[in-house]
Formats: sequence, structure tokens, C-alpha cells
Amino acid sequence: MAVHRAPAVLDERSLFATYPFLPGAESLLAEAGWTLRDLFEDRRYDAARLLGRARILAAADDPRAVREVAEFAHASPAERYLSFVFARVALAAAPSKAALRRWAVAESKRSSARLEGLDGSAQEEEILAVAGRLRLAVAPADGGIGFPLDSYVRLATPIREADFRLVRQDLRGGTVVVRPARAARLVEEGIRRMLAEPVPLQAEVVEFVRGREAELFAALATRLPLPTARSGGPAGGLLPERFPPCIRKMRRTLQAGENLSHAGRFALAAFLHRAGADPETIVDAYRGAPDFDESITRYQVEHITQHAGGAGYTPPECETLRSHGLCVRDGDPTAPEPRERGRDPLCFEPWLHHPLQYYQTRGGRVTERSEDPPGPPPSGGGPGRPGPPGRSRSTGPR
Ligand code: SF4
Repeated sequence: MAVHRAPAVLDERSLFATYPFLPGAESLLAEAGWTLRDLFEDRRYDAARLLGRARILAAADDPRAVREVAEFAHASPAERYLSFVFARVALAAAPSKAALRRWAVAESKRSSARLEGLDGSAQEEEILAVAGRLRLAVAPADGGIGFPLDSYVRLATPIREADFRLVRQDLRGGTVVVRPARAARLVEEGIRRMLAEPVPLQAEVVEFVRGREAELFAALATRLPLPTARSGGPAGGLLPERFPPCIRKMRRTLQAGENLSHAGRFALAAFLHRAGADPETIVDAYRGAPDFDESITRYQVEHITQHAGGAGYTPPECETLRSHGLCVRDGDPTAPEPRERGRDPLCFEPWLHHPLQYYQTRGGRVTERSEDPPGPPPSGGGPGRPGPPGRSRSTGPR
């Protein structure tokens, strides 16, 4: 993460240009009467659109916002604000929500990098100014910044670092007091959550934006490719819509920029490898993670997939995933698709012990291994019932 050394204490106009998601930032627009349509097609807003597209594409390439968006350097506060509005609306209308999630991660990280780069009282003041406007109910406290307990728990829960666990915090009455650097990380989480929610748009607005920004969405599609099967993997390609609920949930968690436990990360990589995903697709599954690091992820993915001469580690079975709290067979209330919110009957079949069995039963192909668990009994499967994983359906190299 680049460290952004910043001047002390921003005036309000600069604060809104730096944090354009704050309520009140619209005051940056001195001129009245602009419309959303103007923003997307009027020549007066060419610069804002260019900057907005740059924000979106930079986030798609680099959700950790390590690189600054070069176009920011010459933009006025009003252009910066409009570019933010443009990006937020464009991404709400985008065909896939993956780009919105990455952008939310990148914007929130850019903000927390600035907050972390400040020193002393300037840092504390700016954190309080941003968090206060986000209605996080923070307050100065002796030795740091105080968060109400419920806010702390809500913001810290998705953060994986052990230092954020509640048992390690300075709890005073109903307030958790943290040092400014930790407060900046919590504020980052609050910003990410807010921006990851698409702004509601009417159907005709979505159609208009998609028509105007077809080129942008085509560029995004090439940067956020769909899962790809590796050559020499199981025949039939990858079928992500047939992945078991636990694996789908793990992918959603990372795409949403939330943390996934170590056990979950391992299970996901090992599963994707056995399902035939190419290494790029596996690495790509982790790009939304708040602590994503390309080189470390590549190293870890390589370690998991190249184990035993390229066979890869066997993904954990259902019981293990259950013990880690990763099984969602009872449903995921936060899932976007209604069918995923309820219990999945296949997961309750007495013969189902492994996510690979689930995938095969749904018609997916996996690279077989001799230690794979048996598949469903002859009378127990659904339409197109496969044989045991690693046996009759296997078409992979092993
Ligand atoms: S039962 Fe197994 S396959 Fe189904 S969600 Fe749980 S861990 Fe995944």
C-alpha cells in the first residue's frame, strides 16, 4: 500500500473532494441544474467522465488502490466529485456487480491510505471528520478514538487480522477505544460497505447508461474475465452456477471485498483447481480480498495447485468445512439469488460428504483422484446423476 503523505487538516471543500461519498459533498457543485443525462452526454462534463472511467478501470485492475489514479492530479474539486458520481451511477448500471465491488474496495482503501498517512492531531481530526459525517458515532477518547460497541463489532467482523478481535480491544463501558491507525481501517470498512451497495436506478436509466458507456463495460469485461477452465483440465469447462453453496458463498465473500478465513481460502483454491479452473481464474477469485497481494496469492495458489506433481491438495470435506463455519447448507440470507437463501436439499443427502460430490451431482466435472469420496448411490441422485467423483465422470489427466 502506497503511503499518501497529506497536508494537515482539510478545509471543507477539499474534504468533500477527497471523500466525495460524504453527505454534503454535492455542495461542491456551484452551478445548479445539471442532470444525470448531462453528466453522461454533455461536452461540459467530458473531463469528469474521463476521470470517472479512470477511477473505475483503475479499481478493476488494482482493487487495493496501490497506484494513484494519475488523472486526479489536474482535476478540480468539482470534477473529482462529478467523476465519483459518474462512477457510482455507471457501476450501478453495469451488467456485472463485480466491478462495483472492486471499486468500493479501491475507493475505501484510497481513503484509509490517506488517513493512515496523516500524523498526530491532523490524523485524529480527519478521521473524526470523515467518520462523523458517515454517522459512525465516533468520539475522541483518551489514547485514541472511541467507537460504540455495536459499531465496532459491525465494522470489525469482516476484518481478518487477529488484532481486531474484540477480546484484544480496550473496552470502556460501551465504547471500544482504538488507536487512529486502527480507526482508519474501521472507517475503510464503513466506506466499503456503503459504496458496495448499488444506487437504485430506474430501468430506463440503466438502459441509457449502458448505451452511453458500452465501451467502458466492454473494457471491464476484459479486465474481469469470467472463470476459465485450464487446458487439459476436466472436459465440459467450469460451471460456477453449479458449485456447491459453500464455494459460491466463499467467492461472493471475496468479491464483496470481505475477508475469508484461511481455511476458506485454502478450500476455495483447492476446489477450483479440482474443478479445472486455470491458475489465472483462481488468482482472480482473490482479487477483491481486502489484503490481496498479487505475488503472495500467486505463490500460494501455485503451492496448492502444484502439490503432488500438479494434482493439487484435496479440498476439505463437508464435515471439515462445517467445523470452520464455512458450510451454508441451511441457506445464506445475504445471497443475491432467492434460491440460495434457503436450505439446499442436495447438501442434506446422507451420502453427500464432499463439495466435489455436490458439483459432480449437478453435472460438473472434476479431475479425479484415487482418494475421492464415493458418489451418490444408484437410487439417490437427481437428473443426470453422475457416478462417484473421481470415477466414471472423470475426464481429467489423472
Ligand atoms: S453440505 Fe457440503 S457441499 Fe453443502 S454447503 Fe455444506 S460443505 Fe458445502
